[in-house]
Amino acid sequence: MSEPIVIVGAGIGGLSCALALAHRGHAVRVMERATQLEEIGAGLQLSPNACHCLRQIGTLEQVESAATAPNNIHVRSGRSGRTVTRLPLNPYLPGLYGAPYLVVHRADLQSALLAACLNHPSVDIHYGHAFASREPRSEGLERASFTTSSGTVAFDTPLLIGADGVWSAVRKTIPGAAEVAFSGRTAYRATLPADQIPAAEMQDTGLWLGSEAHLVHYPLQNGTAFNLVALIKEDWNEETWSAPVSRQTFLKTFKRWSPAARTLLEKPDTWLKWALCGVEARAPWGVDRTLLMGDAAHGMLPFAAQGAAMAIEDGAVLAHLATRHLDAPDTLRQSYETARQERVAKVQALARSNGEIYHLSGPLALARDTFMRVAGAKNLLRRQDWIYRWQPPAL
Ligand SMILES: Cc1cc2nc3c(=O)[nH]c(=O)nc-3n(C[C@H](O)[C@H](O)[C@H](O)COP(=O)(O)OP(=O)(O)OC[C@H]3O[C@@H](n4cnc5c(N)ncnc54)[C@H](O)[C@@H]3O)c2cc1C
Repeated sequence: MSEPIVIVGAGIGGLSCALALAHRGHAVRVMERATQLEEIGAGLQLSPNACHCLRQIGTLEQVESAATAPNNIHVRSGRSGRTVTRLPLNPYLPGLYGAPYLVVHRADLQSALLAACLNHPSVDIHYGHAFASREPRSEGLERASFTTSSGTVAFDTPLLIGADGVWSAVRKTIPGAAEVAFSGRTAYRATLPADQIPAAEMQDTGLWLGSEAHLVHYPLQNGTAFNLVALIKEDWNEETWSAPVSRQTFLKTFKRWSPAARTLLEKPDTWLKWALCGVEARAPWGVDRTLLMGDAAHGMLPFAAQGAAMAIEDGAVLAHLATRHLDAPDTLRQSYETARQERVAKVQALARSNGEIYHLSGPLALARDTFMRVAGAKNLLRRQDWIYRWQPPAL
């Protein structure tokens, strides 16, 4: 088959899948709605399972050069400010799994993937193309149509991959596919220059646990910036990554938090917010010659820090299976769903459960903190072993 594989969405999943396919000899066309790479968003976490995939597609080194490898996850009580535990990340996890645990600005990760795609002769990227519709064609092809500023264009492809994020338009064309569901939680983010932050906070990922809210922060961009994300129970839902925030109302949520946490929260002048949504993983991920990946297939709460990692893993597995079964779409779809859905559903369940545990209050919060102190940091980390030890199929 000579027509390129078409990927909808030049996000983290779409670009990493394009590289995984190109490394296996496929020609790929990536169609992105935005007119250029958007520097929207803030930090993402990349655990060893994701870093193995990035290494395989030749981008880990470049991602590492813009990322930070925190020493620990420093867990504290939001209310008292006391340390609950420190979970070792680097160099402990690379010693166990052979790859680092990184935190990186989404735009830096996307730029590294994009640069590798632009350097690869088999990958073509088209900005300003919004997916509009698709229809199966004869002769083993699918036709995908895109809206541009000057009209509509269509491409025939042996495989159409919907990597168009949690509000996926491709997913809407798949009968029986899951619907996006609002979680009742909102993420607030802010980024600051590192020189406004105490040096001790620049070494670790910080995780502060509080009643119906928690705070995560870590250094970004080679330690020159600092990323804060506060996650709050809140009934608000709009399709945007960057809604404006009333700083005063936002800070009221934390009025009972410790001075140390409040000092950090009060530093940024501007916060932006987005609604946390999920897409149930155990639902059809494809039809005809169309398949979903990443958030389009299984958007998840960020409380296991695995959203980007699962999208990157999907790309590696999909590229491997497409190479074997491109001429047998039913086999491709079934083997892809079998390879991915159970794992991703388990990660979604872990994220939901972390969300409940992080937001406990009163005696239950005290019991949680005591358990975390006595269980031992390495034992707590071992709960994630089945996630971190995963490796992509060989090229
Ligand atoms: C602008 C933006 C900012 C983000 N910021 C954060 C953040 O700060 N923290 C965080 O944890 N997660 C953030 N995310 C989500 C995070 O990137 C994903 O959860 C994760 O990386 C999985 O990636 P994905 O490739 O499946 O989806 P995404 O990274 O969401 O990528 C989807 C891509 O598809 C494109 N697209 C959407 N609809 C169409 C269409 N109809 N036609 C063509 N292209 C389309 C989008 O423009 C985007 O480039 C952000 C996503 C986006 C799009």
